[in-house]
Amino acid sequence: MNKAVDMQNIQTVPLWIGGKHKQASGARSGEVTNPATGRVIKRVPFCNAADIDAAVQSASRAFPAWRDSPPLRRARILMRFRELLDQNKDELARLVTAEHGKTLADAGGSVQRGIEVVEFAMGIPHLVKGEHSEEVGTGVDCHSLRQPLGVCAGITPFNFPVMVPLWMFPVALACGNTFVLKPSEKVPAAAMRMAELLKQAGLPDGVFNVVHGDKEAVDALLNHPDIKAVSFVGSTPIAKYIYETAAKNGKRVQALGGAKNHAVVLPDADTEFTADALMGAAYGSAGERCMAISAVVAVGAAADPLVAKLKEKASQLRIGPGDSKVDGKEMDMGPLVTRAHRDKVASYVDKGVAEGAKLVLDGRGLKVTEYQDGYFLGASLFDHVTTDMTIYKDEIFGPVLVVLRAKTLDDAIRIINANPYANGTAVFTRSGGAARKFEREIEVGMVGINVPIPVPIAFFSFGGWRNSLFGDQHVHGMEGVRFYTRGKVVTTRWPDANALPTGLNMPTLG
Ligand code: NAD
Repeated sequence: MNKAVDMQNIQTVPLWIGGKHKQASGARSGEVTNPATGRVIKRVPFCNAADIDAAVQSASRAFPAWRDSPPLRRARILMRFRELLDQNKDELARLVTAEHGKTLADAGGSVQRGIEVVEFAMGIPHLVKGEHSEEVGTGVDCHSLRQPLGVCAGITPFNFPVMVPLWMFPVALACGNTFVLKPSEKVPAAAMRMAELLKQAGLPDGVFNVVHGDKEAVDALLNHPDIKAVSFVGSTPIAKYIYETAAKNGKRVQALGGAKNHAVVLPDADTEFTADALMGAAYGSAGERCMAISAVVAVGAAADPLVAKLKEKASQLRIGPGDSKVDGKEMDMGPLVTRAHRDKVASYVDKGVAEGAKLVLDGRGLKVTEYQDGYFLGASLFDHVTTDMTIYKDEIFGPVLVVLRAKTLDDAIRIINANPYANGTAVFTRSGGAARKFEREIEVGMVGINVPIPVPIAFFSFGGWRNSLFGDQHVHGMEGVRFYTRGKVVTTRWPDANALPTGLNMPTLG
């Protein structure tokens, strides 16, 4: 197709403010591409401060009525939203694949994990109940409340366009807050579809709003006086910036950052099982997962057979457009999100070779017939990687797995605990004692035992340690509820004729 003609038909994604589509007022915008074809499929507006203010005002106006609506009424809207997500999950997965590139099956799995957070949020009325103690003093009772904060903002990354926003807003809304979501400018469609589904579920206008854009839009959210809390998921440098800026402005913040997740493989682990698990963990979603295993620490005799098995399996991965099949089978891996990111990941493979790591499998130069303009990269595998190499130190966020060798489990634990990132980790072993030692001594937020991607189920909380999280509350589960509510304690006395005078001294039980 002629590109000039093609461009004329490109639509600009609207904003979602006050329960309606709105056009952004600013002149700046960006392109959204389909990573499998390299074609521009839509434009996304880059909001300015006036657009952000319109969304925040809409959320502020909606707050008092939403806060005052009974928790069960809010939960029922989420129940209907859950049904609509379920009915539309194939469409949502298609939107994710078209903009992100991951396979349809993988996209569908991430939608399902998001739905589980909505299911958790439906039960939040039970979790925001207060406590009550009677007669804490003579004629005095005491009870606690958990109340919503007001307008909350969510700023999300490109790699989970449905699941990561769902980590945030269902919990925030169930607790009685209103919300402004700024999805990644690379993948705006799913957020818009979820906004429509929320309206269909009966959510009052203004309770949920979507804005688009880059740093200008994010800064306007961080500096807006009416935003009470900011949830962020993205890369570590931006997470740190968000945390510092929002905290300086007096906001509550949870900012989840990047990762370098290690799998320790002990000599007693089943090589076939472990290599299979590592295929999905390292190369699923083309490595663009914050919980992807990007470094294996092979202990002692585990290394040689494991590297051979990883090479065998990784060289057989089916790579192509996420919505296509070969020989009736779905792809294992789609393209990377943008050309710039594909080139950056490929340059890490160059660096690994230059720094002396052993390149066991080279994914550079992969061509997918009929999709020459797609952002494809094959699976790469490095062995004999050391902790001073760039391919170990940096988060690559692509289909590149590096293998380090360690003599003992203690050495492996030391390597992981010294890494600045600490999102997820896993150990592969048949020994309960070794697994228990690993679980206790490893300084990482989410740990798997023979489970390569230990993403907690929605009623537990998700979050890392060190440079993988700035702030002290993780997302969803009880920590999510605490993040989106604040506590209040009420002490009550109803004086009667026999009440003693209070006096001027500090009241005590005496
Ligand atoms: P990113 O940090 O580039 O962008 C995330 C969000 O921040 C986007 O909405 C983007 O528009 C905005 N942003 C980008 N630059 C900004 C700036 N200078 N100032 C203000 N806002 C800015 O991340 P990404 O590339 O979209 O996503 C990949 C990263 O996210 C990886 O590092 C990955 O590990 C991380 N991630 C972490 C988790 C987790 O749970 N810890 C989950 C998913 C992704």
